[in-house]
Amino acid sequence: MKISEILNNNRVTVSFEVFPPKQWDKIENTKQIVAKMCEDAPSFMSVTYGAAGTTSGFTTEIASKIKECGVEPLSHLTCLTSTRDKIHQVVNELSDNGIENILALRGDIPQGFEFSQKQYFTNAYQLVNEIKSINPNFCIGAACYPEIHPESKNRVEDIAHLKEKVDCGVEFLTSQMFFDNEKFFNFVEMCLIKGIDVPIIAGIMPITNANQIKRSIELSNSSVPTKFFRIMERFGDDPNKMKQAGIIYATEQIIDLMANGINNIHIYTMNKPDVANAIMRGISEIINE
Ligand code: FAD
Repeated sequence: MKISEILNNNRVTVSFEVFPPKQWDKIENTKQIVAKMCEDAPSFMSVTYGAAGTTSGFTTEIASKIKECGVEPLSHLTCLTSTRDKIHQVVNELSDNGIENILALRGDIPQGFEFSQKQYFTNAYQLVNEIKSINPNFCIGAACYPEIHPESKNRVEDIAHLKEKVDCGVEFLTSQMFFDNEKFFNFVEMCLIKGIDVPIIAGIMPITNANQIKRSIELSNSSVPTKFFRIMERFGDDPNKMKQAGIIYATEQIIDLMANGINNIHIYTMNKPDVANAIMRGISEIINE
């Protein structure tokens, strides 16, 4: 089933993100994690694409496992460091495995990477066009950034590029993680003003240990509200307390989003079924329609 249909059919959706292992010998372990998470019946489950695409087969394997568990998979795909042939190979592989949904991404610029004349893909919109040319039946999503992509000069430029990307045939957007809902509300409003009218799924990252926050902020450019800093200051040294506080913070964020009319939530689970399950239990009545 296409994610666009899921987003249009259900009034409320809660989806999960998982990542594949770095080594093949851990694939069965990740499959078990996936199977456990599917017990919570997420609306769909996305699986990330390893940096530089070195483990592309792992993504397909995990996406196939998600499908086998009765949940719709969304396979991420990055293009910056890929050749056109490699993209064709992966897209055909996904198609052969019955995967219908791709999150089309550029990928981060690796350290020391030089853009050359031969560079085939420089931005995600080109990948959207390429996937459409290989197989127009894929439902394609893309990434968006409530607090601006780190490389963008300003919000106006970032949203203009986002609009161009959506106009290439993107049917939904998944947001970068954010910890302050006001940033997301403002972003959604700005998108609507600029004519971006596809569903925008709110990306929520439960921070369950103090080390995770530093890395997450570095990668995402997300600002952290004082309220969350205080939680870390008080509970950051105690893993159990921090885990509970992180789950409750994420749950409260979701409740507030939904109270403000946001119906599509994506949880960056970090492959932790217990965390995903605790959040789902915390919102079980709220999402029950
Ligand atoms: P783009 O849409 O190409 O945007 C990148 C930058 O270029 C932005 O600043 C944009 O404003 C600018 N830009 C866009 N179009 C143009 C243009 N025509 N001219 C000039 N500038 C332009 N990374 C992975 O490696 N694997 C994953 O699985 C993965 N999953 C992700 C999932 C989500 C939901 C998110 C939010 C990010 C994910 N990432 C992943 C990280 C992502 O690859 C990086 O954030 C990357 O830096 C940008 O990718 P993009 O697809 O948004 O790029």
